[in-house]
Amino acid sequence: MSLPKHAYFQGKIVPYSEAKVGVATHAFNYGTGVFGGVRAYWNDEKKRLFVFRPHDHYRRFLNSARIMCMEFDQTPESMTQITLDLLRVDGWQEDVYIRPLAYKATEGIGVRLHDLDDDFTIFAIPFGRYVSNDTNAHVTISSWRRLDDNMIPARGKISGAYASSALIKTDAQRAGFDEALVLTQGGHISEGSAENVFMVRNGALITPPVTENILEGITRRSVMELARAELGIEVIERPIDRSEIYICEEFFMTGTAAQVTAVTHVDHRPIGAGTMGPVASKLRELFYDVVRGKNPKYAHWNVEV
Ligand code: PMP
Repeated sequence: MSLPKHAYFQGKIVPYSEAKVGVATHAFNYGTGVFGGVRAYWNDEKKRLFVFRPHDHYRRFLNSARIMCMEFDQTPESMTQITLDLLRVDGWQEDVYIRPLAYKATEGIGVRLHDLDDDFTIFAIPFGRYVSNDTNAHVTISSWRRLDDNMIPARGKISGAYASSALIKTDAQRAGFDEALVLTQGGHISEGSAENVFMVRNGALITPPVTENILEGITRRSVMELARAELGIEVIERPIDRSEIYICEEFFMTGTAAQVTAVTHVDHRPIGAGTMGPVASKLRELFYDVVRGKNPKYAHWNVEV
């Protein structure tokens, strides 16, 4: 994997090699960071990078920071501007993944959120596919449960919570699967290790509501809007039972990294016909045009670098 060229660090853009924190840093010890994941897509005809919905990503990022008692004199607009400045200095001419990370920066021992310094950094790296089988993923149901809102809130993208996602992902991959679906404490499908999920049942598109310990995904919101407006299909937010996956027509996962990943098997059972279905296929086509700045109707989601 290639390294970032630069980072926004301690208030300015520096070469990546200079963006270093001490080993006693609070967030490094206790997972007291919050992060985001944003993609910028290279449009080869226009020779331009387009950042996908950065204001929405930074709105969520600042909310995550708020959950962890962090104070920043920033707005979604100011954070987007820093990102554009960084990408211009970097000069990437390919798809990149942008990682904003806010963290408890004080160096020292003591578990708490208050009376600590907060800081944030942003860097970008070239990025292709996240789930390699993105048209025919085989997933399992994880034996791990999704973190509950009263443990570590999933709607805050909190660094420490991703130790749980890492347990989920590694156990799934070592067992030969591409990804895992995670159940809530109550036994409903919550999401993947780093993706929201959708099922097509009786022609309607169904996704768990934001109260099922999901991250409130920007891709999720985008796909819901595209499905309603462009495919004219009904989109319903409601809890999903595990056994519904065995009998649904289609299943797919969404995320900035995973984009729109079609799931065709769960625990060796075919989903629908066992191949990518029409809804996932059409949404993928739409989504990839939109993110690359090729669909004028959704140009307001693209910020040109
Ligand atoms: N759920 C989790 C746990 C995630 O980490 C992600 C990736 N950020 C998502 C869902 C998808 O969210 P988004 O579409 O905003 O990337």
